[in-house]
Amino acid sequence: KTKMRLDKMLGNLGYGTRSGLKALVRQGAVTVNGVRVKDPGLQIDPHADEVVLEGERIVYRDTVYVMLHKPAGFVSATEDNRERTVLELLPEALRVFTPFPVGRLDKDTEGLLLLTNDGKLSHELLSPRKHVPKVYQALVAGQVGSADIATFATGVTLDDGYVTLPAELRVLASPKHEADLEAEGAAGIARASSTFTMDQAFERLDAFPALRANRTSWQEAVAAGEPLSWIELTIAEGKYHQVKRMFEAVGKKVLYLRRIEMGPLPLDESLAPGQWRELTEDELERLR
Ligand code: URA
Repeated sequence: KTKMRLDKMLGNLGYGTRSGLKALVRQGAVTVNGVRVKDPGLQIDPHADEVVLEGERIVYRDTVYVMLHKPAGFVSATEDNRERTVLELLPEALRVFTPFPVGRLDKDTEGLLLLTNDGKLSHELLSPRKHVPKVYQALVAGQVGSADIATFATGVTLDDGYVTLPAELRVLASPKHEADLEAEGAAGIARASSTFTMDQAFERLDAFPALRANRTSWQEAVAAGEPLSWIELTIAEGKYHQVKRMFEAVGKKVLYLRRIEMGPLPLDESLAPGQWRELTEDELERLR
């Protein structure tokens, strides 16, 4: 088994800086296997030796698995010169493990994003050969209907010529009549989505950069007779901007996108956008 310096073990777990931890150990704050130690450089087996810091039993681990409800406005990267990254949403105690996002969600996409420092698991979840299904919900400008469902089921040709794998498209709400739009636009979407309240649906409709850029508000889009569809889409691959490009290929624009499932993991509905939690043992089992 690999051994490690005591101060390094505690540092890896985020218990302080190396110099601060050295001082702590020298002051006698740490016992190893019940024996008070004063040497911060003591070689220990971090998985087998019992380390206690100021009365607290320290359990070592070297992997972290985090489920994040990614909010819009953050990029799926570990570092970026201009943009806020999803890493900034995690506390230092987790960042010391240098987790990275498993795949990417666009800056304006919300929903389930896993972060880990387990390269093997990440690779397996992202491998094109594994076809791990991902479920998205989207608000789409236009009337999504049976023709789109059929096209998505057989394969859509994207702008670069790539033909997508069969994907399952479900229409959750799609206001059909202009007269219904004022009432149904947000209401229909709120009703079809178990997690959007009316207010949230309106807020989101208002927040679309695309709608904002072209018109002053979503109400004008609705007033102009543009139907909105709230859909759910399952894809088993992850090309760049795939969902948006699939809809573009059928002449429709994705106004809002969020991911609600990745493989066996649904987004924990108790996590608000920006919140995270570590995966449970059970969830990890299912992922592996
Ligand atoms: N497809 C997209 O277009 N964007 C995402 O963020 C994820 C899937």
